[in-house]
Amino acid sequence: MTVLIKTVSELREIRAKWRKEGLTVGLVPTMGYLHRGHQSLIQRAKEDNDKVIVSDFLNPLQFGPSEDLSKYPRDLDKDLEAVMQCGADILFYPSANEMYGADFGEQELALTMVVPPKDLTNTLCGLKRPGHFEGVCTVVAKLFNIVEPESAYFGKKDYQQLVIIRKMVADTNRNLQVVGCPIVREEDGLALSSRNIYLNQSERQAALVLNRALTLAKRLIDDGASNANDVVCAVTKFIESEPLAKIDYVSFVDAIELKPLSSITEPALLALAVFIGEDVHRTRLIDNFVYYNEKD
Ligand code: AMP
Repeated sequence: MTVLIKTVSELREIRAKWRKEGLTVGLVPTMGYLHRGHQSLIQRAKEDNDKVIVSDFLNPLQFGPSEDLSKYPRDLDKDLEAVMQCGADILFYPSANEMYGADFGEQELALTMVVPPKDLTNTLCGLKRPGHFEGVCTVVAKLFNIVEPESAYFGKKDYQQLVIIRKMVADTNRNLQVVGCPIVREEDGLALSSRNIYLNQSERQAALVLNRALTLAKRLIDDGASNANDVVCAVTKFIESEPLAKIDYVSFVDAIELKPLSSITEPALLALAVFIGEDVHRTRLIDNFVYYNEKD
């Protein structure tokens, strides 16, 4: 049985009871419209903990003014069903006012923000989405404070996010384990994303270019390519051959500090962000792979 909870105080009450009983808690932060990728995180959290809390909060702070906050898909019933299937104990579904205060959205934002280090945000999605990771770190820090989980689960699909959250946890001496979970894909290779719902049939087909580009990169590396720029150029050319695709970035960086790479040393992260579709309706998708042994 999954219990739906909408307030911080109710959640804290249950959490306190579980602590008294000596039960461990795993937290899975999400923005809802759950799919098998989210469910894989919940399943992993179930394996590791006595209790699992899934948060379902469309966090306005992590969207830029021209981004898709207002059209982001929502479906609480579907989400409830998805978490029940995995046996999560709580679906935490707070409003923006519950998270950020009664006057949130009514006036200029006056909120203490958590700001991750620039050298992790001035690359990849952080460069393209100013303020995004401040929004992510702020909400995740709040969720950590509300839930006080023993472990928290994040997907490697948002690899930069995972690196930044790990750093935030280390830098603030938070006593919890951050667990990175593998990317879940459709059978044809497209990484699952709540945003895939935006794609029409031809865009859905065109979106395969992301995973195919990663496959091309892997093959080039397996065949001996060692220059990161050569691989980035080949991947760029390949994506550009898809008429419905427009590159936001293609970057090869080291997978720990996210610094640019000239030669491919391990572990290396090849990360992509690509717009799919015609200008007004385009959907921004991300994907990546880590060359060499992935860190859990
Ligand atoms: P979101 O709801 O998009 O904020 O995602 C919530 C969590 O699910 C994040 O940690 C994501 O990295 C993770 N996630 C999203 N899609 C996938 C996927 N295809 N495979 C694995 N994890 C995912």
